[in-house]
Amino acid sequence: MAVTTNGEVSFWFADMGGLPPARPPLPGDIAVDVCIVGAGFTGLWAAYYLKQARPDLSIAVVEKEFAGFGASGRNGGWCSGEFGWNRSRYLQSGTREGVIALERQLRATVAEILRICAAEGIDADQHETECLTYACTPAQVERLRASLAEDRAWGIGPDRIDWLDGAAAAARIRVPGALGALVTHGVARVQPAKLVRGLAAAVERRGVRIYEQTCVTEITPGLVQTDRGRVRAERVLRATEGFTRNIAGHDRDWLPLNSAIVVTEPLPPALWDEIGWAGSELLGDASHAYCYAQRTRAGRIAMGGRGVPYRFGSGLDRRGQTQPETIAKLVAILERMVPQARGLRLDHAWCGVLGVPRDWCATVGLDRATGIGWAGGYVGLGVSTSNLAGQTLADLVLDARTERTALPWVNRQPRRWEPEPLRWLGVQGMYRLYALADGREAARGGARTSRLAGLANWLTGR
Ligand SMILES: Cc1cc2nc3c(=O)[nH]c(=O)nc-3n(C[C@H](O)[C@H](O)[C@H](O)COP(=O)(O)OP(=O)(O)OC[C@H]3O[C@@H](n4cnc5c(N)ncnc54)[C@H](O)[C@@H]3O)c2cc1C
Repeated sequence: MAVTTNGEVSFWFADMGGLPPARPPLPGDIAVDVCIVGAGFTGLWAAYYLKQARPDLSIAVVEKEFAGFGASGRNGGWCSGEFGWNRSRYLQSGTREGVIALERQLRATVAEILRICAAEGIDADQHETECLTYACTPAQVERLRASLAEDRAWGIGPDRIDWLDGAAAAARIRVPGALGALVTHGVARVQPAKLVRGLAAAVERRGVRIYEQTCVTEITPGLVQTDRGRVRAERVLRATEGFTRNIAGHDRDWLPLNSAIVVTEPLPPALWDEIGWAGSELLGDASHAYCYAQRTRAGRIAMGGRGVPYRFGSGLDRRGQTQPETIAKLVAILERMVPQARGLRLDHAWCGVLGVPRDWCATVGLDRATGIGWAGGYVGLGVSTSNLAGQTLADLVLDARTERTALPWVNRQPRRWEPEPLRWLGVQGMYRLYALADGREAARGGARTSRLAGLANWLTGR
């Protein structure tokens, strides 16, 4: 499949008529109450909730490119209210009740985001739906059933998550060889660039100043150094997720993991009749090298996956341009999951980076001694998680003790990633092993998860 456009940040901006004109940069040195670095979901949600609580605060958001340039304007649009990876890790910094509260609060972010879209008049193609995670091998069935059993043990009922057998799963979306699927209720599909741009406009209306085309080089207590001047602020929030390695002293905090997406031309109605997918559900699978997809407002398929997972030295892409081998991998996944799409034109391909902490667990925090806060490391689940992070950052800046500030992801400080070439070897090895594990499970047909997947997780501490 040839691709019409590669990069240019993402299809989502093309869908809005092209990249937006940039706001003016920082005009020189300024002083504010709060300076936020990065105009993605994290920074903008923090600004939104801060202004809501304290309209009198002066807040500056400083952004290297334009609002939504990062993962927030490039992602798969899964607004899932999902927890992320490993409950046992959060138990190390909290109680069982704390982990349950964290999950409850995360689930609530989906309704909160939809509420704010309605209140602020943001049209982000938001659509309340379900998430379907397909199992196409016995080992995948076993993994999904085990994860469902764990959810049940944590008190999560069928109103949130349930099991569809093979026939019921295939009736929803005609995924070949479907043996079953997990169905997660209470999620939403969004057009992410529309959401992040709408949010930026909403915070501006409340009096937040967004300075674009301004690169932050260093953050020290009370001072943000940029290429356009300095910002003095008692509280500074770092909201740069996958780009954090660019800021002095943070090069090994969060690993920039690549994710990439391809978008097809709009499908004719007759083809949709063949495929199903009538509820515009979020579509994923339980392979180790998993994929995520959405049916867009205009009836296209946006299919995402890992592709080339990591660039040596925490390298970043150029405005979303992705490698031919990544596109080839995504096309193979698209044709496996939705073979009816074979032969369709691909209108766009792009990639972006998401932030991965050394313990693969999202975090939000603020050091009261320095006044510097941060949030991110959402490991690919940032659309909804960033909303809770923004609410929590606002509480922390205002020194408010709330249920949110007591959650076990607050103020986690995992160790840093190893220097190169260890980082590259670890991540590269991990995804090679995942691919081998998926192949073995498919070939053997047994219910047991391949040991290679366990080895892959061990390699990077996932
Ligand atoms: C391809 C892809 C698909 C994804 N799919 C999903 C999904 O479907 N669902 C989901 O929940 N999550 C998904 N994610 C993850 C999610 O998009 C992110 O976790 C989330 O958007 C992070 O938001 P953020 O505001 O913290 O960071 P970002 O949106 O990355 O924003 C950081 C901002 O900081 C700016 N910046 C960087 N360096 C500097 C600097 N030095 N000075 C000033 N500004 C700077 C950047 O330009 C950027 O605008 C996906 C990520 C990618 C890349």
